[in-house]
Amino acid sequence: MFVVMTSGATEAEILGVKSRILAEGLTPFDHEDGAHVVIAVVGEIGERKPALIDQFATLPGVERVTPITRPFKLTSREFHPDDTVIRVLDAAIGDGSLTVMAGPCSIESRDQLFETAEAVKAAGATVLRGGAFKPRTSPYAFQGLGVEGLRYLAEARERTGLPVITEVMEPSQVDIVAEYADILQIGTRNMQNYSLLRDVGRVARPVMLKRGYGATVEEWLMVGEYIVSSGNPNVILCERGIRTFETYTRNTLDLAAVPLLHHLTHLPVIVDPSHATGKRWLVKPLAIGGVAVGADGVMVEVHPDPDRALSDAEQQLDLDQFRSLMAALVPVHDRVRGMHGDPVVENAASSAAGLAKH
Ligand code: PEP
Ligand code: MN
Repeated sequence: MFVVMTSGATEAEILGVKSRILAEGLTPFDHEDGAHVVIAVVGEIGERKPALIDQFATLPGVERVTPITRPFKLTSREFHPDDTVIRVLDAAIGDGSLTVMAGPCSIESRDQLFETAEAVKAAGATVLRGGAFKPRTSPYAFQGLGVEGLRYLAEARERTGLPVITEVMEPSQVDIVAEYADILQIGTRNMQNYSLLRDVGRVARPVMLKRGYGATVEEWLMVGEYIVSSGNPNVILCERGIRTFETYTRNTLDLAAVPLLHHLTHLPVIVDPSHATGKRWLVKPLAIGGVAVGADGVMVEVHPDPDRALSDAEQQLDLDQFRSLMAALVPVHDRVRGMHGDPVVENAASSAAGLAKH
């Protein structure tokens, strides 16, 4: 439920509500929504709901209490109608600009990373990607350079000024990855690794959460809720394809998830056409499609010599193909900008009615 304070509520009244919530064994998360402070009440509420609504509604400074039936609260549009904008170095994600995260699947050497970093930066990428710890389907495949890869990534940031993103696979790696990287990536295979989620919830770095290849949108948002409720509000969602019966493509890119997520949540949404398709020549049309349906940006794999890549050779773009992708993507983004309008939301501060489930 959300407690909507009156527009003139004092600090003391806001504190009073929060301490009542804490006294019930629940956690308050507040957010300013226009003239109102809205406090989300999260925790195990169960059958106490009607009694708690009555109790909180009578506290000084409270305008009303709005129940919410969605299982995700802090990540919901109702709680936070404005888009979340994530700022890292000079990049802003979710502010209406086009985010392009580009770089190799795996960091293979200093030269390979630097050559790619400089080329993608010159072509307009806004974030550099590169895997140091690699979740490989086969235990015999290249597993990444580990900490050495993280060091190259940090050096590439110094050279290009681009913020860097890399995957963290286990709780024991969170601190070291957070030391070198600007954005932590949770991979599809780890989307429901709850100890990892709690740990990335405690670091002061944005987290990009890739959709589990068998996860529904609601399961994915519940995982985002884990991270936000652990104390890290800077979560980016990445649609990277789900597993279906189709075998021509590596996964099936769920483009409907993009506008759906913009409707359900305030978090930025990125599309990854590389892992979604597994085929180089499908990356460009689907990146264009992702931006056309309103994604905040794309993540694509780029390698100076893709055929010799140590991982995901078939899906990485070469440097020319990346330049050609950028030339196509920028006008599409300019064209669709503003076209999608505001997502349809019920504003927590202005909607007196309860919220429908879907
Ligand atoms: C990646 O982006 O490096 C990666 C392994 O992606 P995913 O987790 O989506 O397979
Ligand atoms: Mn890859």
